[in-house]
Amino acid sequence: MSELRRQLIDTARRMAPAQLNRGTVGNLSARARENGEDGFLITPSGMDYDALLPEDIVFMRLDGTPDGRCKPSSEWRFHRDVYAGRPEAGAIVHAHSPFATSLACLRRDIPPFHYMIARFGGDTIRCAEYATFGTQALSDNALTALRERCACLLANHGLLVFGRTLEHAFGLAVEFEALCEHYWRACQLGQPLLLPAGEMRIVLAKFASYGQPEPAA
Ligand code: 13P
Ligand code: ZN
Repeated sequence: MSELRRQLIDTARRMAPAQLNRGTVGNLSARARENGEDGFLITPSGMDYDALLPEDIVFMRLDGTPDGRCKPSSEWRFHRDVYAGRPEAGAIVHAHSPFATSLACLRRDIPPFHYMIARFGGDTIRCAEYATFGTQALSDNALTALRERCACLLANHGLLVFGRTLEHAFGLAVEFEALCEHYWRACQLGQPLLLPAGEMRIVLAKFASYGQPEPAA
């Protein structure tokens, strides 16, 4: 069984201690190639992460056909569509974390109240229109909200974020939830003052070279 399956399970088990998920809600995946086919590895539907074995992780081809002994996450459609539509995505985290989910129930985009909004690719974090969990409509709405972004809220549901690797996507999900908490707290005190469009353009440009350079491939 591949090292990536183990990494996926380890990352899934870090979700609850990081306050991202409770119970079996949420799911995660990583782009993978198995038996000469392109696809992704995804957590199985409704299973306790603590009990997961590498062979419970499901391999899915980009045409949506599964390979494995367990049923894939009910949200495999938005995972598949992100990998198909966003070549830069290497891993995806979906969570019902408390602050992001509370904001998602307001069905509002998060405005540029803090410069870290730009970390996710734009001057807002959009909230995707509501659709039933596990549907193609939810995936279509999520892909629209993710345009030029690597994260969005899902109305009355939770958050979705992708990154280059599992570690990167997990870290971004933690930062996304923290940002939602800051917004929620600021709103308790009044109307947050928003950063102007010019400042957000400067921050977006700075984020293009933020952190350590990528290791050469
Ligand atoms: P799965 O257990 O099927 O991944 O579903 C959890 C979830 O969060 C659905 O949106
Ligand atoms: Zn969900």
